Amino acid sequence: MSPVPDPSANAAREVPVEVVAIDGPAGAGKSTVAKRLAAALGWAHLDTGAMFRAVTLRLLEDGLLAPGAAPSTLDGAAVASTLATLTIAIDDAGRVWLDGRDVTARLREPAVDAGVSAVAALGAVRERLREAQRDFARGRPTVAEGRDIGTVVFPRAAFKIWLDADVEERARRRRADLAAAGHDPGAADVVADLVRRDTYDSSRALAPLTRAADAIAVDTTGLSIDEVVAKLRALVTARVPGTRELHR
Ligand code: C5P
Repeated sequence: MSPVPDPSANAAREVPVEVVAIDGPAGAGKSTVAKRLAAALGWAHLDTGAMFRAVTLRLLEDGLLAPGAAPSTLDGAAVASTLATLTIAIDDAGRVWLDGRDVTARLREPAVDAGVSAVAALGAVRERLREAQRDFARGRPTVAEGRDIGTVVFPRAAFKIWLDADVEERARRRRADLAAAGHDPGAADVVADLVRRDTYDSSRALAPLTRAADAIAVDTTGLSIDEVVAKLRALVTARVPGTRELHR
């Protein structure tokens, strides 16, 4: 039997490619760097992880997801009906709205961290969010970050970056973020969570975490946020037409 053409793959080819795609493992600094890079370019910023986190929060609230659950324990029909009713919006300030509520502060809660990879492995969730991500970038230049941005969501992005750092460094940064949000997990727990999520995200069947063949790898170990942003700005403005004049 010949493979059935995937209409979404064709749609992807038509999506505007004025996108900088940043992918990489958990804690590599993608969100902070993407936000700063977008501001420097005058482009929109899309944190796709926040969208998966918002869906996870809603499933937790609805009692459909037990903390630490495997995808096989999720009730597919119930998840589908939740997806049919929920709304997610990201405003210009980067705040995330779930069903009209600002849930930004809740997206880093430990229960969301624990459940998000299982939720992100579900085909129905990925499909719904992929379309929302493409809609977001339609008609506006965007710096989008996540796990499958350069491989699946925007395979024709103008520029692709694979952002990585040593696991110890990623854990240090993640712990500092959590402390700033009022959480205080031990160092060992943070490393374990990063490794667990990366393993899960890299080994899932759908849109696994992987470096696009045409992505430029940037190792941020030992670099400050300012240094990483400067490096990416130089790469992007040298390679993406129309960005140079915004370089200020
Ligand atoms: O980037 P962040 O750590 O907030 O992402 C949370 C989780 O969402 C990831 O561990 C991954 O399971 C999922 N994710 C994804 N695809 C993306 C972005 C995030 O599967 N594009």
